[in-house]
Amino acid sequence: MRHVAIIGGGPAGLLAAQRLAEAGWQVAVYEAQATVGRKFLVAGHGGFNLTNSEEAEGFAARYGHSHPVFRELLAHFSADDLRHWAADLCIATFVGSSGRVFPQEQHKPADLLRAWVARLRELGVVLHLRHRWLGFVGETGLQLRNEATNETFTVSPDATVLALGGASWQKTGSDGQWVPALQAAGVQCVPFAPANCGAEVAWSEFFRAKVGRTPLKNIALRCGSHLERGEIMLTDYGVEGTPVYALTPTLREALTLGSPAPLLLDLKPDLSDAQLLQKLQKPRAGRSLPDFLRQTLRLSHPIPTLLRETAPPDATATPEDLARLLRAVPLPVHALRPLDEAISTAGGVAWAEVDEHLMLRRRPSTYVAGEMLDWEAPTGGYLLQGCFSTGAWVARSIARRIG
Ligand SMILES: Cc1cc2nc3c(=O)[nH]c(=O)nc-3n(C[C@H](O)[C@H](O)[C@H](O)COP(=O)(O)OP(=O)(O)OC[C@H]3O[C@@H](n4cnc5c(N)ncnc54)[C@H](O)[C@@H]3O)c2cc1C
Repeated sequence: MRHVAIIGGGPAGLLAAQRLAEAGWQVAVYEAQATVGRKFLVAGHGGFNLTNSEEAEGFAARYGHSHPVFRELLAHFSADDLRHWAADLCIATFVGSSGRVFPQEQHKPADLLRAWVARLRELGVVLHLRHRWLGFVGETGLQLRNEATNETFTVSPDATVLALGGASWQKTGSDGQWVPALQAAGVQCVPFAPANCGAEVAWSEFFRAKVGRTPLKNIALRCGSHLERGEIMLTDYGVEGTPVYALTPTLREALTLGSPAPLLLDLKPDLSDAQLLQKLQKPRAGRSLPDFLRQTLRLSHPIPTLLRETAPPDATATPEDLARLLRAVPLPVHALRPLDEAISTAGGVAWAEVDEHLMLRRRPSTYVAGEMLDWEAPTGGYLLQGCFSTGAWVARSIARRIG
């Protein structure tokens, strides 16, 4: 029987393990932490979003410059396949109003992970917990350390899957410490960068004290030609929320130019320019700006404070000025939040280092899956789907090429 070593017990590694065990392989998973799937469980904290119901072409486009690869990967293991996989573990899913796919409410992420681990054990997959991969030895060897006993040993499987994750939320085990071991083998890694994270705006002390954490609903954010709608949260460091996360690639690119990235907030995206101006042309009749905004546009706290914070006083002088400002409140972003706080990681193993089977060109029979590859995607189920699809793909490649 052929033997495969899977390094990393996140969703990408565990799916590859399951598929290969089902194909008759002898599978050993080596996971540095005391339990598998820690980041998978964390993903459940803010609503466990397994995948998305978006149609295929739009779905693949979510993977930015990696979309041609993902079009193929998603055709092999799609959102529907992911839902069938969950159903096979007795976890029913549903499509939420936003198109996101969630497990039915009675199923917690831990239930799904428990059922999955039980299935893997039934299939004969051996989970070696607290086993850290240290690097390659010779042509096929893997050096591993048992973290409990500190003993170091080598295994030489017929195939290896590296599924070591990104470098955010280090406490879950995704610490990015694998980079030097790959570089030592000549594998190029694109430097890590935070993806799907908050953006820092240098608020004044007054603003921080007065506004604190406050949601802004039904807004639009623009950076360059990219526009995202939804809800954001003003925080003491800046802004966060789904539209901010979705704009992180654009913000990151703008920040490389050196000056603050121009993030613009549209407070009334449902009104046309003409409708907005018409409302603002109503006589103020001695009302203060906060009262006027509240009564004509239902814009109340913290909007007046935000306008005072971000725009010069003459930006609200005439109805035309005010309309322009409400369409594009400037939020100068001077940095993204630190990598460890980010929901996901950009960067990782460069695409040029793997072939169409996701096999390392420099190390035949070693495959790479999940977030450790250099791709990024927005929140909304696209991250887990990307990990599952790459996991399924490497399993198929191994079964076909070596099995
Ligand atoms: C707060 C938060 C919420 C999220 N919510 C969602 C969501 O709702 N929907 C969604 O699609 N995605 C979500 N994600 C993202 C998703 O959880 C990740 O993209 C996914 O877990 C990555 O899977 P992976 O298998 O590539 O890596 P990981 O899940 O990071 O697993 C990698 C594993 O490798 C192990 N490892 C690392 N180095 C070694 C080594 N040297 N030796 C042995 N083992 C090692 C790690 O301990 C880890 O267990 C969220 C992430 C976070 C942080």
